[in-house]
Amino acid sequence: MLQIALLNGKPEIFYSLQGEGKNIGKPSIFIRLSLCNLYCFWCDTDYTWNWEHTSYSHQNDKEPSYQKFKKSESIIQLNNEQIIAEVQKYNCNRLIFTGGEPLIQQKKLLPLLNQLKKQNPQYYIEFETNGTIIPEPELEALADQFNVSLKLAHSKVLLQERLKTQAIDFFAQNAKSNFKFVVDSPKDLDEILEIIQKYAIFHDKVYLMPQGTKSHILQEKQQWLIEICKQYQFNYTDRLHILIYGNKRGV
Ligand code: SF4
Repeated sequence: MLQIALLNGKPEIFYSLQGEGKNIGKPSIFIRLSLCNLYCFWCDTDYTWNWEHTSYSHQNDKEPSYQKFKKSESIIQLNNEQIIAEVQKYNCNRLIFTGGEPLIQQKKLLPLLNQLKKQNPQYYIEFETNGTIIPEPELEALADQFNVSLKLAHSKVLLQERLKTQAIDFFAQNAKSNFKFVVDSPKDLDEILEIIQKYAIFHDKVYLMPQGTKSHILQEKQQWLIEICKQYQFNYTDRLHILIYGNKRGV
């Protein structure tokens, strides 16, 4: 059984547009897995990990209405047949496994991916990952793309937890990988340059994305971030789903 995020009593498996990165704008089916091994301060999918009685701080803690999530009410366990039935509701060949951190459940994902590809070899499978877990060879072979979002200091995750040398080396040398950095301020550039130099990541595989869950904040950061992208020949990526739908789940 896989642990899937639960939204209004249903698994968070939905059809929308890829909102970020290399395939922005492409119609895709999203499968949102629960659980994460990090605890980013600004995480916008904190319902996958920020459980009651844990000590993680989150930027929403200052909101009077914000509460940590009840784990038992935030996860639904589905078997492969149930997940495939959800996926097959939609006429689309692009699948995005996201989270949380989907590779936490990679052992259980492997039979699902095998079944999906057997049923429809045309499925194009993307993973959104924080780049801390090395995919098993069998899973790597079934995946078509890894969107690797390494976390910077502003995530407030400890360095040794967010940047794992062996995992970054793996993704840097993997032709299916691209790298997406969430950028909060121009000061983040030095950290990004240091990482991509250390791991020999090509600039044209790097996507810089403004941090924020409100359109006006994204647009403010867009102004200086686009200039950084032009200067260093990085790709700029918006957060299309935020611009279209706002900070909503399941769209
Ligand atoms: S790695 Fe992703 S899902 Fe996990 S806490 Fe950070 S932003 Fe959230």
